[in-house]
Amino acid sequence: MTAPAPENFGIEMIGAPAGAPIELDLRLEAVLEGVLVTGTATLPLQGECARCLDPIASTFEADFQELFVYPDTRSGGNADDDELRLEDDLIDLEPVLRDAVVLALPLSPLCRDDCPGLCPECGARLADAGPEHHHDVADPRWAALQGLAGDMPASPTGGSGSPGSRGTTDRREGKQEG
Ligand SMILES: [Zn+2]
Ligand SMILES: [Zn+2]
Repeated sequence: MTAPAPENFGIEMIGAPAGAPIELDLRLEAVLEGVLVTGTATLPLQGECARCLDPIASTFEADFQELFVYPDTRSGGNADDDELRLEDDLIDLEPVLRDAVVLALPLSPLCRDDCPGLCPECGARLADAGPEHHHDVADPRWAALQGLAGDMPASPTGGSGSPGSRGTTDRREGKQEG
């Protein structure tokens, strides 16, 4: 049995396109309180790789099991709001599927497990660019900063030598003054 995917069947990064066929493999069991529905849903997924933003097209499979109770049955005396009920002998599978599928979708879907993502420098897809792809940091702004750093006095954390007196006389270090 196949059902079309409802709107917004998914999460931000990935989901089933509206109207896409969801294949349902269902088993219905009559139990005392109602009907126990066990099944597997297979559906197409479309989304974006969280690392390289490549489109992802894959198939997702989710197992679910849910009890639909008869409308005139009260389980344990208190009618639960999220208790699923049979209505005119029909079962509404959409909330069950949402729970089974949407909650199980990966928050950061990847086009492949070892997706290297994008180059932080130029945005190239590293999967295409290859492992040799890199940039020499020759950005003039960084070069200027490096120049600045070279002009800075040595940090006084070393303990020996006082800042500012660098380059006067090294011999003073050894002399005892006062
Ligand atoms: Zn990717
Ligand atoms: Zn690059």
